[in-house]
Amino acid sequence: MKKKTPPIDLNSIPLSELKQYLADFGEKPYRATQVYGWLHQKRVSSLEEMTNLSKSLRRRLEETYPLTVLKPVEIQQSKLDGTRKYLFALPDGNVVESVFMKYQHGNSVCISSQVGCRMGCKFCASTIGGLVRGLRPSEMLEQVYRIEEDTGEKISNVVVMGIGEPLDNYDNLLTFIRMLSDENGMHLSQRSITVSTCGIVPRIHQLADEKIPLTLALSLHAPTQEKRLALMPAASSYRLDRVLDACDYYFAKTGRRVTYEYSLIRGFNDAKEDAQGLGKLLNGKNCHVNLIPVNPVEERPYVQPKEAVALEFKNQLEKYKINVTIRRGMGRDINGACGQLRKSYI
Ligand code: SAH
Repeated sequence: MKKKTPPIDLNSIPLSELKQYLADFGEKPYRATQVYGWLHQKRVSSLEEMTNLSKSLRRRLEETYPLTVLKPVEIQQSKLDGTRKYLFALPDGNVVESVFMKYQHGNSVCISSQVGCRMGCKFCASTIGGLVRGLRPSEMLEQVYRIEEDTGEKISNVVVMGIGEPLDNYDNLLTFIRMLSDENGMHLSQRSITVSTCGIVPRIHQLADEKIPLTLALSLHAPTQEKRLALMPAASSYRLDRVLDACDYYFAKTGRRVTYEYSLIRGFNDAKEDAQGLGKLLNGKNCHVNLIPVNPVEERPYVQPKEAVALEFKNQLEKYKINVTIRRGMGRDINGACGQLRKSYI
């Protein structure tokens, strides 16, 4: 008889569900808490290491639910600031990127949410080969766990800004966030998690209604619908005014200040008029703007503005009483745009 593919892997199962699965095996709830602790606190990479479980239970688990373990196939270390970029292999042979960054306020990890992406943003390297599939909760958790293990450093912030559109993998993303913040696992504060989206309006509403106090980052990149559409095909379905309304709704529901990301592209969206347009658009909102000088991607014609132009853009925005930062180029020596490491590997 052909073995059925299991619907889920062991380390993608939240604790409450694990209790039910183990009850089906005739196990008490505390067993599930033990297994969960092995997976999400001790972070073992095999069931053999779960030494306080009976051999028969271990075997039964092994036969029913596979364990997902990520293996780094390449690690790049910056000589400038300790940034480390990881290329992880997934069990099916696909690869994704993650980045470890050291900041004054703590260590941060940027993770991928999908293999590839179908959003088609013109300046982004991750979308060039299209979408392969969404990541499982375990595959998102593993990026964080394996980086903590490799660096020996505690991670205090997780940003979902790597390869993929997190809100296009909504259910797995939510399970991941709940598991990451579970007190029986890593127990990371939900306030220390940031999710970045190109603006999938219905999903932003849905996320707002979950009332999870995470930070929403919205990829804006242009002050008008027309210009935004020229960069981001998703803007044809989700128009600028509706995206901004969804962000207002997010703030109203969660009380969390929204971050707007704006990639500065020389000669396209970096003029004084663009800054003024953006200022008028965001005027009066309790928000934060993160200006990101565009990372050059080989296949794309986009170029960063000169530093003075970026500073002038920031000054213009500040006239509208908007909180603005220019993203510090972390790991500049290894910092190809996100998605490029995977692409060169393929
Ligand atoms: N899909 C999500 C998250 C992934 S990208 C989103 O769209 O937000 C994280 C951020 O990096 C986004 O704001 C994205 O627009 C931006 N980005 C992608 N490629 C870039 C590049 N080459 N230079 C600068 N920013 C880029």
